Amino acid sequence: MNVIFLGPPGAGKGTQAQKICAKLNIPQISTGDILRRAIKDGTETGLKAKSYIDAGKLVPDEVIIDIVKERLAMEDCAGGYILDGFPRTVPQAEALSTFADIDSVIELAVEDQVLVNRLSGRRVCLNCGATYHISMLNGREECSVCGEKLVQRADDKAETVLNRLTVYHDQTAPLIGFYEARGLLKKIDGDQGMDNTFAAILKALGAEA
Ligand code: ADP
Ligand code: ADP
Ligand code: ZN
Repeated sequence: MNVIFLGPPGAGKGTQAQKICAKLNIPQISTGDILRRAIKDGTETGLKAKSYIDAGKLVPDEVIIDIVKERLAMEDCAGGYILDGFPRTVPQAEALSTFADIDSVIELAVEDQVLVNRLSGRRVCLNCGATYHISMLNGREECSVCGEKLVQRADDKAETVLNRLTVYHDQTAPLIGFYEARGLLKKIDGDQGMDNTFAAILKALGAEA
């Protein structure tokens, strides 16, 4: 099953992709995680991507398309995958259609006001990609999966968050119509509890809870 998770920053794509992938035993392909890892490792891609990410802008299409094309060609993707954070522009979606067969697109819908609150309280593990919200950490500062110290992403600061929401509405939201026209879109209310959202996604994918 080849699935895309589509939605604004903070909609819960990463949180849900991680859970659904564990359940279905398929890899989560998070372009944000791949880029942050590249920055951490100081690779050429990381150097190229950093200024865009810090400004809340999208990394150029040609950079990200090649990364995803290579990743999907790897063996572990043969039995299906979830794309979390890709595509984010119509040219990315068009490129994807030349090297992948997508079965479903899950749109996680959440209002902007809720997103601002979620993003400003988000804490992440840059080692394993786990995501938390300060409201559920009770002051804990380490990743409960791998023990690494949790951090606030530089692009989750208030001024950058508003940029990212604008970028989403301008450049990524047109993909809703793009995939609707292809009969692939399944819209899920992302503003319900994590467990209800999880169950709704599984149902939309036709998978057993
Ligand atoms: P995205 O990958 O779409 O940017 P995340 O999965 O990183 O979103 O979630 C953003 C923030 O919102 C995180 O702090 C996460 O813990 C929190 N969050 C995710 N899903 C929910 C939910 N259903 N209700 C409340 N908070 C949530
Ligand atoms: P979020 O979880 O908040 O939606 P991501 O972790 O997916 O954010 O992405 C963080 C940043 O990485 C984006 O703001 C953008 O700069 C860059 N990025 C991630 N995926 C893409 C993509 N498909 N195209 C262009 N830039 C991307
Ligand atoms: Zn971790």
